[in-house]
Amino acid sequence: MQKCLNCNRRFSWGQVYRSFLGLLYGSIECHHCGAKHKITISGRFIVTALTVLPMLIFMYFLSDLNLLPTIGIGLVIAFAGSLIAPYVTPFDVVSLNEIDGDGRRGMNEAKHLR
Ligand SMILES: [Zn+2]
Repeated sequence: MQKCLNCNRRFSWGQVYRSFLGLLYGSIECHHCGAKHKITISGRFIVTALTVLPMLIFMYFLSDLNLLPTIGIGLVIAFAGSLIAPYVTPFDVVSLNEIDGDGRRGMNEAKHLR
């Protein structure tokens, strides 16, 4: 499971999964230090590769079934992929409450709106 890039606490699977469900990949906030993380561009490709891709491959190439069962199984495959995705998807810090001074990538994007 991914860790917080600020304090190294592990995120819970549910925490990461919810960020996928918050469509277009909402941010994940560390419960421990409050650092906000967002899925990286490559992370989006990974999520797509785990969910949409196997579903499409099954539906277009592997299935001999009728349309409805094909779509049904395709969705199950996409769902199964989404269950794995939180384990392998990389994140970047987008904002930190506490800055630990080692100038991580992503800090430039941190927005300090007061
Ligand atoms: Zn943290």
